[in-house]
Amino acid sequence: MTNHHDMNNQEDARLGQEVEAQLKEVLNRLPNVVPVYLFTRKGQDDAFVKAARDLVRAFRSLSKKIDFREYELGGELARKWNVNRSPSILFDPERFSIRYLGVPYGEEGRTLLAAILLVGMRASGLNEQTRNVLQKIDTPREIKLFVSATCPYCPDQAINAIKTVIENPRLFSLEMIDIQSNADLAERYSAYSVPQTFANDVLIAQGAQPEELFALSLEKMEPQSVFIPESDAQVVETDVVIVGGGPAGLSAGIYTVRSGLKTAVIERGPLGGQVATTPVVENYPGFARVPGKALVDILVSHALEYVQIYHGEEVLDILPNDTVEVITSRRKFLCRAVILATGATYRRLGVPGESRLAGRGVSYCATCDGPLFRGKQVIVVGGGNSATTEALHLYNIGVQVTLVHRRDTLRAQEHLVRNIRDNSIPVLWNTEVQEIKGKERVSEVVLYNNKTRETSSLPTNGVFIAIGYNPTVELAQKLGIELTPDGFIKHDSHHRTSIRGIYSAGDVEGGYKQIVTAMGQGTEAALSVYEDLMHPYWQVQQGVV
Ligand code: NAP
Repeated sequence: MTNHHDMNNQEDARLGQEVEAQLKEVLNRLPNVVPVYLFTRKGQDDAFVKAARDLVRAFRSLSKKIDFREYELGGELARKWNVNRSPSILFDPERFSIRYLGVPYGEEGRTLLAAILLVGMRASGLNEQTRNVLQKIDTPREIKLFVSATCPYCPDQAINAIKTVIENPRLFSLEMIDIQSNADLAERYSAYSVPQTFANDVLIAQGAQPEELFALSLEKMEPQSVFIPESDAQVVETDVVIVGGGPAGLSAGIYTVRSGLKTAVIERGPLGGQVATTPVVENYPGFARVPGKALVDILVSHALEYVQIYHGEEVLDILPNDTVEVITSRRKFLCRAVILATGATYRRLGVPGESRLAGRGVSYCATCDGPLFRGKQVIVVGGGNSATTEALHLYNIGVQVTLVHRRDTLRAQEHLVRNIRDNSIPVLWNTEVQEIKGKERVSEVVLYNNKTRETSSLPTNGVFIAIGYNPTVELAQKLGIELTPDGFIKHDSHHRTSIRGIYSAGDVEGGYKQIVTAMGQGTEAALSVYEDLMHPYWQVQQGVV
């Protein structure tokens, strides 16, 4: 008799075979053979080298389109291409200067696959606006991109950089640097947050960017946050536009399309919202424990069966009318209703040193940056579900963590509070961070005990800030939508906002801010949109129908 476990294993194996078959097909269809050269130090046979070799071999075994070779450092080819780190992986080095230093495992598997596919295509696939920006650059740019296996944002930025090199191999070169196997380089560049991008050793970006912003940062040689397109936007006609690709937006999309409404989801950053960077989710019914990123992948693939997702595109303006115009950084959408599911962004402490040392020991994402602090001493600031979840995650991966909370009780779920206690994670109660200090990177924090009124200094390598989120309401404000006194979008029980045709869903509405509640709100908003388009309530109110 087959039990559940066997059935699951069989299902996994079947899925695995299916993915492998698809991968083989994609690789075999590549128009060009992709030389992939692994360089290792003679005699070095550690876990990094073994993992790198096994990974590339696994890909090679799938298709003859991958011409995999291994060389040693110090040899003729290593000298020719100036390779001096082990392991290093070079992709078609006669044509492109694209290399990966370290082992592309975990999230970085996506980067490895993208590098092989893009190099095999020899076409960047960048959009016209991005190519226009890159064409303005006329001096070389050596790009260094720091990445880690546990960072879900990193492959997006890596893909931007790979495409850029393919677009103009004469001017652009790329080193993707896995911080785990190149801790010394991360240290030298003070890259304590990933992804982090340098061009000619100048920091040009922290975090993943839409491709146009990446190109613009590369052109301007400093971080850019807004891209205004130069050409007339192309027009997309649809029924519903959903702004935001987190649990609320994606759930809403599944429901609007299933109601028969054509829908576009627009997301400027990584899909999945905050869940993508939540280490482990333990309260999503049906999954006892699931990494946030895995949950996002499942959700995004499900949503993609229905909606079209416009990723890396920013909504700049919404002009409400009978036909609503949604203007983004790339085009214009004409639709009948908009759902704002813009979520929330990290709240900042607002203390001296915080912004100067962001990415230099100050972090808002323990999943992304935690591995950099293994064996080191960090503090987590906050006393809610996020702070406790992050503290536990850091503790579990071997970081020495202290929780710093401004009151004498945590506001987290009892289960999390118990875990903090059971693992003897130290908590500094009634303590506020007054200043974050450090020259190149964080070295200490100034703490203030609001009970004893004493100020003290605590040496630390990192400060993880998890003090809640501010709703992302810039668009809503620009539109003149009414907000609640707490700054969230004001809405009725149908998720209608104060402007007809514009709805809200998820964390931007305030409330419980759970993944399942956001999904529920997204679903309700979608169903309301459908009902309102079928039976326009404003016409009923005006006595038209
Ligand atoms: P939160 O629940 O709003 O808690 C924020 C914490 O940071 C509070 O302890 C607050 O202190 C502290 N804080 C706020 N501003 C501060 C400042 N300027 N200086 C020092 N401390 C400050 O935020 P969250 O933990 O990020 O969670 C956000 C939402 O997501 C919540 O609704 C939460 O339930 C949800 N979430 C759920 C889970 C889960 O269910 N496992 C996991 C993550 C997030 P006080 O306590 O003194 O106000």
